Amino acid sequence: FTKMSNVSLPPECLLKPMNFPHKVLMGPGPSNCPPRVLGASALPMLGPLHPEFTMIMDEVKAGIKYIFQTNNEWTVCVSGSGLAAMETACLNLLEPCDTALVGINGFWGERFADMVHRQGIDVKTIHRPTGEVFTLEEIEEALKKHKPTLLFLTHGESSGSTLQPLEGVGTLCHKYNCLLLVDSVAACGGVPMFMDKWEIDCLYIGAQKVLSAPPGASPISFSKRAKEKVKKRVSPIRSFNFDMNHLANYWACDGDVRRYHHTGPISCIYGIREGLAVLAEQGLEESWKKHKHCAELLYEGLEKIGLELLVKDKSIRNPCVTAVKVPDGVDWKAVIVYARKTYRVEIGAGLGALAGKVWRIGLMGYNCTPDNVRLVLRALEESLRMTRTAKL
Ligand code: PMP
Repeated sequence: FTKMSNVSLPPECLLKPMNFPHKVLMGPGPSNCPPRVLGASALPMLGPLHPEFTMIMDEVKAGIKYIFQTNNEWTVCVSGSGLAAMETACLNLLEPCDTALVGINGFWGERFADMVHRQGIDVKTIHRPTGEVFTLEEIEEALKKHKPTLLFLTHGESSGSTLQPLEGVGTLCHKYNCLLLVDSVAACGGVPMFMDKWEIDCLYIGAQKVLSAPPGASPISFSKRAKEKVKKRVSPIRSFNFDMNHLANYWACDGDVRRYHHTGPISCIYGIREGLAVLAEQGLEESWKKHKHCAELLYEGLEKIGLELLVKDKSIRNPCVTAVKVPDGVDWKAVIVYARKTYRVEIGAGLGALAGKVWRIGLMGYNCTPDNVRLVLRALEESLRMTRTAKL
């Protein structure tokens, strides 16, 4: 290129082919996408209101209702990653007169409490160490004490690899006039979820975990109670982008004619459609069984190579993400780098308070196979051996 005017030269890096490594993503997400999902994501563009596209949106909505086990009218995808869905829940379900009670047993509770605080809304917290979960008694005590209008719990706390039991929590919340909001980004699809039966008022996930689709659109659903709360707000929703009244219309949940709100991530929606189809073909119960089986193979293998799991109590382990303690004297980063370089396997680092203290291994959707369990175990075992030897 010769410089002809005052326009700067194009960046040289963009004039070369994109450098793209293939990796097996065995961290806490994203998961690898199956070819079927990648193929769908590469399909030609459609307009956000084209009937062919809105039909795909309707299919996605049906798929979300299936994996959430809900009949909620207000079931949509928010444009953005799981965090955008978390923010949608926060912005729609809370207003200045409310009080949110946030269960903090890891990174994601902390994040939600921060989000609420930024809105100038009263936030109370209950705490458990990362790697532990809340009991119904603790929750009831806090509901009585703080009289919140919303309780936030993380179903699959990916920082501590716990699975919060949810049965009974919704009924308890409703007894105290409180809504229940659940983050199941790192669990739903891989473990049982019964949104309606468990009386969950708002539930969201991401696309890139068990659905094994590209991140960019995130399923979320609101119960009748949650929808009423949004409809009866005295203050406006402080976001145009995430206003559920607009999103519900665009996703044809309000019986009205669809109106343009924004251009959604069309290709991501194609991908989610296929990710949901994979789960529908497999059947939810089969998927739950597969995740449990592979997680058990992983636990067994980790113990065999002398590694300790963070969560001792088997009944509260999230099969989708497993936190493994870094043994004393081991360079956790060197292990991750060795596994990546030698096996092209991603092993996740610790997050938040557990950074440097645990590795996190994900087994979600397309990546949840016995072969991948064996691969990650082999990579981890060799990486540990080689990095220990290198230090001697
Ligand atoms: N909640 C949980 C439990 C998560 O694990 C994650 C992602 N790791 C998120 C929320 C946020 O999702 P995203 O990264 O897609 O914004």
